[in-house]
Amino acid sequence: MEAAYHPLKIPTSSLLPVAGVDNVPGPMVPPELKDVIAAYARLEQDIGALVKRRSAVACARCEKICCRPDVGEQALESWWLREVGRQAHGRWWPDDWRTRDQCAALGDTGCTLTAGKPMICWSFVCDLYTEVYEDLWDAALYSFLADLLWEVGQLTRKLHLEYATEEQALAHADKIATRVAWGRELLEEAKHLVDGSLDEVGRHRLLLSLMCRVPRFFRATTQRALLSRL
Ligand code: SF4
Repeated sequence: MEAAYHPLKIPTSSLLPVAGVDNVPGPMVPPELKDVIAAYARLEQDIGALVKRRSAVACARCEKICCRPDVGEQALESWWLREVGRQAHGRWWPDDWRTRDQCAALGDTGCTLTAGKPMICWSFVCDLYTEVYEDLWDAALYSFLADLLWEVGQLTRKLHLEYATEEQALAHADKIATRVAWGRELLEEAKHLVDGSLDEVGRHRLLLSLMCRVPRFFRATTQRALLSRL
C-alpha cells in the first residue's frame, strides 16, 4: 500500500535544490498554471480572512511562538507555495531566509503571508485556538477550515501539491483547477453552518456531508471540539 502524505515526513526528492531559490529572476510560471495559482491564492486568502476572526483572539492570549523556522522554510522550498506567495505578495522573502532563527514570514504581529503558507500552518490547531470557538457550528466551521486546503492539495494518494515540482504541477494542471474550484464550493457551503440560512436539521445534514467529503476534517481535535459543545 502507498504511504499517505504527511507534512512532517517530507520526501526529500521533492524539495527544490537550495541553490538558486533566491536567484529566481521573476515569475516564470507556465501559462497553464497562472490562473489556477491566482485562484488558489484567492481561496487561501478567503479562508485566512475567516480564520483570523478566531486566531486573532487565541493568539493574543498566547505568549508562545508556535511558528517553527523549519516549517516556514517550506513556504519557499515548495515550488507551488512559493509561486502562490509571490502571486499574493511579490518576492516577499529576505535574502537570509535560510539562516534566520525564526520563520522569514513571521512579523511583529504574526504571519505576514496571506497566501502561500505551508499546509501545517493552517492545519495545526492548538487547545487555546479550539477554546475560542463559540458554539457547535462555529467549532464545525473553523475545524473544517483548518483542513480544507490540505484536502484541496491532495492530488493523488502519494502526491500533494505542497511537494509537487513545477513539472508535476504542470502535468496535473487540470486536476489542480478542478480541486481548487471544488475547494471554493466547499468553502461557500461550509459558511452556511453559521450564517443562519439553514435550520438545525439542515446544519446537521451539512456537517455530515462535509465530513463525508473531507474525511480528514473529522480528526481528533475536531472530535474533541465538537463533543465538548454537544
Ligand atoms: S504561519 Fe506564517 S510565520 Fe508561521 S510558520 Fe507558517 S508561514 Fe511562517
